[in-house]
Amino acid sequence: MITEVKATRLGTIGKINVQVGSKISAGQELLTMETKKGNAVIKATGNGIIESIEIEEGMEVKVAQVLLKVREVQGENNVGVKEEKIKPVEKIQSDVTVIGGGPGGYVAAIKASKMGAKVVLVEKESLGGTCLNCGCIPTKALVRSAEVYDSIKEADAFGIAAKEFSVDMDKVIGRKNSIVSRLVQGIEYLMDKNSIKVIKGNGKFLDKDTVEAETEDKKVQIKSKNVIIATGSETVYLPITGAKSKNVLTSKEILDLKELPESLAIIGGGVIGMEFAFIFASFGVKVSVVEFLDNILQMLDQDVIDEITAAAEKKGITLYTGSKVEEIIDTEDNKSILKFTKNGELKYISVHKVLMSVGRKPYLDNLSLENAGVELNDNKKGIKVNLKMRTNVPNIYAIGDATNIIQLAHVASHQGIVAVENIMGKDLEMDYSAVPSAIFTHPEIATVGLSEKAAKDKGLDVEIGKFPYAANGKALTMGDERGFIKIIKNKATSKIVGASIIGINSADLISPLTLAIRNGLTTEQIIETIFAHPTTAEVIHEGVLSVEGGALHFAE
Ligand SMILES: Cc1cc2nc3c(=O)[nH]c(=O)nc-3n(C[C@H](O)[C@H](O)[C@H](O)COP(=O)(O)OP(=O)(O)OC[C@H]3O[C@@H](n4cnc5c(N)ncnc54)[C@H](O)[C@@H]3O)c2cc1C
Repeated sequence: MITEVKATRLGTIGKINVQVGSKISAGQELLTMETKKGNAVIKATGNGIIESIEIEEGMEVKVAQVLLKVREVQGENNVGVKEEKIKPVEKIQSDVTVIGGGPGGYVAAIKASKMGAKVVLVEKESLGGTCLNCGCIPTKALVRSAEVYDSIKEADAFGIAAKEFSVDMDKVIGRKNSIVSRLVQGIEYLMDKNSIKVIKGNGKFLDKDTVEAETEDKKVQIKSKNVIIATGSETVYLPITGAKSKNVLTSKEILDLKELPESLAIIGGGVIGMEFAFIFASFGVKVSVVEFLDNILQMLDQDVIDEITAAAEKKGITLYTGSKVEEIIDTEDNKSILKFTKNGELKYISVHKVLMSVGRKPYLDNLSLENAGVELNDNKKGIKVNLKMRTNVPNIYAIGDATNIIQLAHVASHQGIVAVENIMGKDLEMDYSAVPSAIFTHPEIATVGLSEKAAKDKGLDVEIGKFPYAANGKALTMGDERGFIKIIKNKATSKIVGASIIGINSADLISPLTLAIRNGLTTEQIIETIFAHPTTAEVIHEGVLSVEGGALHFAE
């Protein structure tokens, strides 16, 4: 089909930026026009190919006169056009320009400012990025509401009589929103205190030294000695029919669900999917998880997977593993049918809402990386960087989810610090040997360094120590004795190379083990350390003791 692009007012044609045969895409500037109401730019709002150009530069045009003809491209988001006022351009300079204000970008900006650089940060939405606005923090606010609700359900066991209680999602979401806005304001305050110029708008490269930030009323061209790309990631949708149908939510939308659905199907049993599964199951929603792989949370060791699988099933979560979702079909009664195959057999479940949780991919839209010559990874997913976080262009760095190395907030922040240290003349490299990771299921799971499986795959000769929470006094007082700690020791060096914990407080307990691995501590050094009593941290001491001849408070 051919679309005619017509003039919406009287004017003179300025610069024409396309030629017959040019492939055009959403956001691209096709031509400029001088009109009585000021200069305007005609932009494409979809993809297409220029079929013909009916005007010339300097030509006077009337209302409804055809300017261009554009041919649609089969199967693509086809072309439309919009007219925009040409915005005034302001030119500024910086030592470091950061694009994206998530935990990667805002931490890098603060660090660079503290080291004496003149810093500009460009953010198109809200400071704090995915992590603070629709990721780590809001999910944990919901996790806490779910925990409180679970505690009240179990109050009788603690000698507390609790009679009338229910979930008020309006308040749950309100509490979450107020935590988020308090933290966002905190970052705004930190930007101000560190004299960081924050520009609200989309940032894109004009060339390797210039970033253009487009705000509501102007364009700011920032001539930058160095640029850090920290643009994060976005939800991946399965390429199936119905993937975006009306009951399908992403992890962002589900965080604002003010009414609990009767039933929820979660596509993807990874970290994000399983956190939501536990939250909504606690709130009384009938939750099913459909996972393509043979296990939920497949990256964990099998004993940890078995423990969390049992906990999920006990909570009433139905798990369909080894299952491939084929289609999502809307029904007349406002529900959705999830069609999937398990062991070659077709299955159908009918649910009120579906959460699409099959992963996230780097968000690099509208960044014009090609203008700076920045290369992507070999698999074209994410920006290619070395251990200094430098891209192939020497003054451009990339950090966080945009690099697709490890999608965690604290990794993004640390990469930001490494990038800044290198910009400021130090010589620092990322070390990924001790990256902690926490999963806020119930019980929590946390890991650092190598899993038992990864250590063995690497050919390391390892010894394993295990200690159950059921033998920890503090865990019993807290009413949750599920889970265990697992310590992985390299036999050759006696150093700890990995740990997994499933059990209460594990997300906090992983930090001392991260310190141990990062600093090459041996089992003996940990055994000689005094741990406070009664604390859940004693499982670390006992776990390490059990590698070396036996735990003190447990016998099989
Ligand atoms: C539901 C959920 C729960 C999660 N829970 C955890 C958790 O418990 N712990 C954990 O460690 N991680 C968690 N994560 C992952 C974590 O949120 C990300 O790893 C982290 O936010 C990545 O940080 P970042 O700075 O790279 O990107 P982001 O936080 O995504 O920030 C990128 C920012 O860049 C902006 N931006 C993008 N393009 C442009 C542009 N061209 N111009 C201007 N601005 C731009 C975006 O608006 C955004 O604000 C979770 C993620 C999700 C989705």
